[in-house]
Amino acid sequence: MHHVRKVGDMTRAHWLFGDQLGPAFTAPGSGGIPRNARLVMIESQAVFRRRRYHRAKAHLVLSAMRHRAAELGDRVVYVKADTYREGLRRAVGGAPVTVYHPTSRAAAALVASLPQVTVLPARGFLVGREEFAAWAAGHSGGLRLENFYRHVRREHDLLMEGDEPAGGRWNLDHDNREPPPRAARTLGSPAPYRPREDDIDAGVREDLDRWERDGDVSFVGRDGPRLFPADRREALAALRRFVDHRLAGFGAHEDAMLAADPVLSHSLLSSSLNLGLLDPAECVERAEAAWRAGAAPLNSVEGFVRQIAGWREYVWHLYWHFGEEYRASNVLGHTAALPAWWLSLDADAVSARCLSTVLRQVRDTGWTHHIPRLMVLGGYALQRGWDPAALTDWFHRSFVDGYDWVMLPNVVGMSQYADGGRMTTKPYTSGGAYIDRMSDLCGPCRYRPGSRSGADACPYTAGYWAFLHRHRALLERGARTAGPVRGLDRLGDLPELLRQERDRGDSAP
Ligand code: FAD
Repeated sequence: MHHVRKVGDMTRAHWLFGDQLGPAFTAPGSGGIPRNARLVMIESQAVFRRRRYHRAKAHLVLSAMRHRAAELGDRVVYVKADTYREGLRRAVGGAPVTVYHPTSRAAAALVASLPQVTVLPARGFLVGREEFAAWAAGHSGGLRLENFYRHVRREHDLLMEGDEPAGGRWNLDHDNREPPPRAARTLGSPAPYRPREDDIDAGVREDLDRWERDGDVSFVGRDGPRLFPADRREALAALRRFVDHRLAGFGAHEDAMLAADPVLSHSLLSSSLNLGLLDPAECVERAEAAWRAGAAPLNSVEGFVRQIAGWREYVWHLYWHFGEEYRASNVLGHTAALPAWWLSLDADAVSARCLSTVLRQVRDTGWTHHIPRLMVLGGYALQRGWDPAALTDWFHRSFVDGYDWVMLPNVVGMSQYADGGRMTTKPYTSGGAYIDRMSDLCGPCRYRPGSRSGADACPYTAGYWAFLHRHRALLERGARTAGPVRGLDRLGDLPELLRQERDRGDSAP
């Protein structure tokens, strides 16, 4: 690999982006690429210069691209270039190239601007663009995940018994919101799959060290050993291990948090799905097969299918459906800058135990599960009025599975309510009581979840009330937020609480 050899003039060339790494992206045949297509991969260093990524993410993406190139051998021309444009010129000159639709608006605009490039429909998702467009047209009154998810279950025959949902209910969320078992330090699930590094990883690490030493690029977070799959073999091993050993326990404690057990029964498959190493169809089909074989209960399997066939597909389509202007949504007018301790993942600067624990997980692994992202990280930013676009950028850079398409709806919409409710029906933020109920994080914390003001006031509890106060005019009009807003009137210490939170400013809580 790595020798730059131009694609011959007579051969069709096909360009693979770094998140198109599984077999679905090179399979010849109907709607696919020609059997003898020469493949082109471009490793752009400018991508890393533009933003300060988590080192583990940079490592994973480069390792996965180089593993794919090694597998493809002579079929691929692998170019290391400053920019994609330059890389393509070096790989194929002006010859025609096909590419599967990229996953970001920026990359889509780039390929559309290159006359030599023909864009093929996107791969790697269950639902095609036309199918989503037809569904959305039938729901012009408002798009909701639950309706979309039921559509996908029916149309793709997932967990169905004839026309009915398996087990008679579409939604088993009620069974999947259990707090952690009492006094448990861990859930005790079988360990997740973790890969073993090889020479390709060592080569990537040397390159990252050199770039940093040369001052070209700077990273945040800790890197190594690699925790997430970088090739198809590893990704399949991770999927198999999850379905065979961990899926059964996925549901009940899906929303729980334990300091000593950050993964619980989560699948850790997001980075493999987003790199294209796994196809969503194979993930949900294997999960369904486990239920049919009696190896996993319905609440766990439905919960997992909902995440992949529901949420992941929904978020992908909303990214395109909402348009470019969605990025700048800021209904709450939040403009505060993210503080330095947050940007640098300085968990040790934070004494609120929940936030410190979660920031440490992100610093050390580039990953934490859904509820810490939504309720601990996103919730804190929302309460403090941080700029949603800057927060989206931070999530994108700091998480191993972060890509523009998945970040925008999740951060701007789901976690920051910056879109005024196009994605969710209310802002997701809570006081310390929710975190206390769903985790073991509050116990030894210096702050008390039940305390709003004074030296031991929980920054989440006080932050929650300060947030409701700041946006009272808007939130008292919402069906799901009017009740909580009225609670402000019962707080005798509101002025003191507001003063205290103003004084806290953006210092680490
Ligand atoms: P599991 O809990 O095992 O879920 C299974 C799979 O479902 C995941 O691998 C993922 O592919 C999919 N999934 C579940 N929820 C979502 C969702 N809301 N959006 C898209 N896919 C979903 N997910 C990412 O893949 N990349 C991101 O950058 C990302 N950023 C997020 C930011 C915020 C603020 C929030 C609230 C959520 C974000 N998510 C993101 C969604 C979700 O938190 C992660 O997919 C999940 O935590 C990954 O861990 P897992 O693979 O163990 O997931």
